[in-house]
Amino acid sequence: MDTPIEVLRRVFGYDSFRPAQQEIIEHVVAGGDALVLMPTGGGKSLCYQIPALVRAGTGVVVSPLIALMQDQVDALTALGVRAGFLNSTQGFDERQAVEAAFLAGELDLLYLAPERLRVEATLRLLAKGEISLFAIDEAHCVSQWGHDFRPDYLTLSGLHERWPEVPRIALTATATPATRAEISSRLGLDQARHFVAGFDRPNIHYRIASKSEPKRQLLEFLRTEHPGEAGIVYCLSRSSVERIAAFLVDNGIDAVPYHAGLDAPTRAAHQARFLREDGLIVVATIAFGMGIDKPDVRFVAHLDLPKSVEGYYQETGRAGRDGLPATAWMAYGLQDVVQHRRLALDGDEAHRRRQVLHLDAMLALCETADCRRVMLLDYFGQRQTDPCGNCDTCQTPPESWDGKVPAQKLLSTVWRLDRERRQRFGVGHLVDILLGKKTAKVLQHGHDSLTVFGVGSELGNTEWHGVARQLLAQGLLSVEPNHGTLLLTDASAEVLRGQREVRLRRDPQRQARAKTASASNGASARPVVELPEEAAPLFERLRAWRAATAKEQGVPAYVIFHDSTLREIATLSPTSLAELSKINGVGDNKLAKYGDQVLETLAS
Ligand code: ADP
Ligand code: ZN
Repeated sequence: MDTPIEVLRRVFGYDSFRPAQQEIIEHVVAGGDALVLMPTGGGKSLCYQIPALVRAGTGVVVSPLIALMQDQVDALTALGVRAGFLNSTQGFDERQAVEAAFLAGELDLLYLAPERLRVEATLRLLAKGEISLFAIDEAHCVSQWGHDFRPDYLTLSGLHERWPEVPRIALTATATPATRAEISSRLGLDQARHFVAGFDRPNIHYRIASKSEPKRQLLEFLRTEHPGEAGIVYCLSRSSVERIAAFLVDNGIDAVPYHAGLDAPTRAAHQARFLREDGLIVVATIAFGMGIDKPDVRFVAHLDLPKSVEGYYQETGRAGRDGLPATAWMAYGLQDVVQHRRLALDGDEAHRRRQVLHLDAMLALCETADCRRVMLLDYFGQRQTDPCGNCDTCQTPPESWDGKVPAQKLLSTVWRLDRERRQRFGVGHLVDILLGKKTAKVLQHGHDSLTVFGVGSELGNTEWHGVARQLLAQGLLSVEPNHGTLLLTDASAEVLRGQREVRLRRDPQRQARAKTASASNGASARPVVELPEEAAPLFERLRAWRAATAKEQGVPAYVIFHDSTLREIATLSPTSLAELSKINGVGDNKLAKYGDQVLETLAS
């Protein structure tokens, strides 16, 4: 039997384990249970795939995403691993074939949708074969506190009772300390060893811009920083998804929409194109993305505020799994705060409390004048004090200023308007009053005679919106749920009485970053193979070969080779199979299958 490191080298073509992987793999190979928290791109799959290859029997992987099982199995097959899946998309014959292979002991890995385990027939089938381990992927789906709760996951607690001797490994990329405790208790993993790898994604550059003209800002971001590259743009509603996708296409950018309102075949087709093509953009609601393990997503953009930091981190975590530089960009403005404050008032008391906590954490991240990464990591229970150098606040530190007087002016305007109970006025009107603008509405209501009329000329329109946004974010103002009118809170009274200081953040000038690999001082950053200029044509040739081969075989390009592997090949330009085999990501199977073609492509 091979040792884990031998399997890593021979099958996967990698030299060495990442720090956490080795410990986890040894623990599971020895039959121990494990709860693994590792960021996206950290290399979770190997933590169960290698033990499944080393131990006798089949590794059973529970994964919620049936749409991706085919690709996962294709990727394993390309490595020479015997893998299959069982889910509702299969026909009878195909299912029979997979079941027979499992019973004959011919599968190293078997992927299952969680709902399969509710079916007694599946449990009987599993009982008749030999199981090396259970892997529970996306384990946070068992948590009701989190944002991806799936009731079928609750049945997974039964696995241990039925197969007490089979090791279980639960894996997730998103878990705050509270979610982690919940996963552990619901899956009965209190006795398991918990492995918490660092959550940092040093290759992702975080940036939150203040929203003025979102479409134009998005276009500029895409054109200057990620032309021709694959990425995801998240929007809150289906209609904005459609609108933005059409807008990008009109501007000559390859983009497709994805949301729950599209029929299943269209959704599947758009997802498949995203996985298979090299530079496609998907504009999507949060319905898109869980389990998408395309390694070369170069950016994730948010045009609307996510509901929680957990959601934000999971969504942005889909960028740069390959360890190469990637960007998490968001445009965020006053309307986002108003809308979310209103949404957070829906539902029962417990739900509301939870929403408000989630939202406050998200807003604090948006409004911080400190390093975004330090704040994110802190949220996930990982303390780090050094600023990262690879986020917008590190690179262009925003000034913080004393906003007490402007806050008082704005709040007293709200107070004066609030006395005219029957009328509802939005922020725009409020700012018009502060700026002394005699608009039709101002005149109609006689607001030019208010004592606050025109007292705010020290700031411009945009700055006043920024003040309102920050007061809302800090809870110094609130929103009336039905009309979105601004209301005072208990805390606003303290500001008005001068008993409370108000610190505000001055939004830095908008700045597009040059398209370069951003330097991070995070010591944990994986070395990036920089593509030397002279290697660029070779890289392009290899990419073209890979695209053609992927198309011919009907698999995503990264199943053939990852970008990082192609970069290394282009840079080192090996001239023999022996040299080629030393490159990261070239294992025995791929060497045999593609080695000659790669060498030919290099020589041509
Ligand atoms: P996760 O599931 O944690 O998001 P993956 O398992 O998809 O991450 O791994 C992310 C990327 O890192 C993949 O491209 C994988 O092949 C690569 N990888 C994982 N472990 C290693 C390793 N020890 N050496 C080199 N590359 C690795
Ligand atoms: Zn930073």
